[in-house]
Parts: sequence; structure tokens; C-alpha cells
Amino acid sequence: MVRLSRLASVAALLTACATANAEPSARRSAHGHGRAALPAPHVAPNPAAEGLDLPPEARACYDRLWRGGVTFELVDRRRAAGVKMPIRLASAIGGVWVAPRNRSRVHSILDCRLALRILHWSGTLRRAGVAGMEHYSVYRPGARIRGSGKVSGHAHALAIDLARLHMRNGAILDVLTDWEERQRGGEPCPMRHDEAWAGRVLRGVVCEAVTAGLFQVVLTPHHDAAHQNHVHLEFRPSKDWTYIQ
Ligand SMILES: [Zn+2]
Repeated sequence: MVRLSRLASVAALLTACATANAEPSARRSAHGHGRAALPAPHVAPNPAAEGLDLPPEARACYDRLWRGGVTFELVDRRRAAGVKMPIRLASAIGGVWVAPRNRSRVHSILDCRLALRILHWSGTLRRAGVAGMEHYSVYRPGARIRGSGKVSGHAHALAIDLARLHMRNGAILDVLTDWEERQRGGEPCPMRHDEAWAGRVLRGVVCEAVTAGLFQVVLTPHHDAAHQNHVHLEFRPSKDWTYIQ
């Protein structure tokens, strides 16, 4: 259930998604985003290249993301309260598109550091056949963790609620219906090899991200009813532990 070193810190993380992510059932169909491509050579300018007074840490993140082939725009921090390095994507990340379910402008804001984590994850996703990721939210201004009342990673745009994977073969894998074995309190990883293909792909890419240490808080349908339809993947800066359930 838990792979971590600081249980006390983790207790406060329970139920990290502050808002309901109620969503109707899944469907499978071809999707209009088409085939995922490897990152293309850059044609867009680096939005942080010059003329801006940016903190060194932010400039370094923007540069790394841009060098990774990601096109994005910087978002005015006054329009993204609580977000240290707000960006809005203008391209896929590592060949994998990332989009909010509801096309919300607010939910399309990410912290650059979360985008970098997804860039590191994108190789795993591409190898699994993923073309795109659909999420319920990343940025929710002022979001609090249900129960504890502490500030949620969503308030900083450092967490993504993964709802569906859109595959290059046209399939759509939905956490709500395709995360097959979901015993409450059970361990999300390792893999269940008796799961159907859709479940194996979903669980597989999440478990690979955990193994790689890309996210520090990972909450799956095993965690609670609020996470029955998504996986919460959160980057916590400067943390050396991972909590997964
Ligand atoms: Zn969440």
C-alpha cells in the first residue's frame, strides 16, 4: 500500500483531491487527435528566452521544457494565484497530448515542473501506445485536501487527475471502468497480469511512473471513492519519498 519513509507526513495527504470528479461512464472510440508523434524540432521561440525578469529556477525549468520540444506560453502569475511557474501548453509533451476533460482555460494551466515530470514520463507512455492524456483538472485555485483542510497540490498546479488514456489504436482507457482490480486499501502496484489489456496499460504506466520516482503522491481507485474515476499524480518539490495507494 505504501512506499515511503515519512508516514506522519502522509497521513495528511489522504484524499488529496478536494473536489468531486464525478464523471459518467467510459466509452471506446476512435479519437480525433490522431497518431502521437515523437517530439518535433522546434519552430516556436523559447517564451523565456529574453526580455523577461524571471527567477533563475523558473527560467531553468522553462528552458528544459523548451529544449524537450514542448511549445508553451507563459501565464501571468497574477492570473494563476498560487502557481509558481504557470504555463499553458501549445503542443504535446514528448509526443503525448495533455488536455482537460472540460476544455477549461483554468484547468489547462500547469506548473512548469509538473510538465517536466510528464515529459520524463512520456517515453513510457509512448512505448505503451498512448497518444494523449485526458484529465479532470490540474489547477484548481485555492483547492484544499478533503478532510485535513491542507492546501492541495492542485492549488499549485502541481497535480494532475488522470481520467483517460487515448491510445494510438483508437481505444480510450478509462480509469473508472478499466482499472479492473480496485480493492480499497490494496496496493496499486505491482501489475496484475490477469487484468485485461486496458487495465494492464493503465496500471502499467502509473506503476512505471512510481518506480521512476516522477511523482511523490499517487492516489488510485484503491484509495477511496473520490478516486474511483481518476489517478491523482502529484509532484512535491524537494521531497524524497513517494506515497502511493
Ligand atoms: Zn487530484
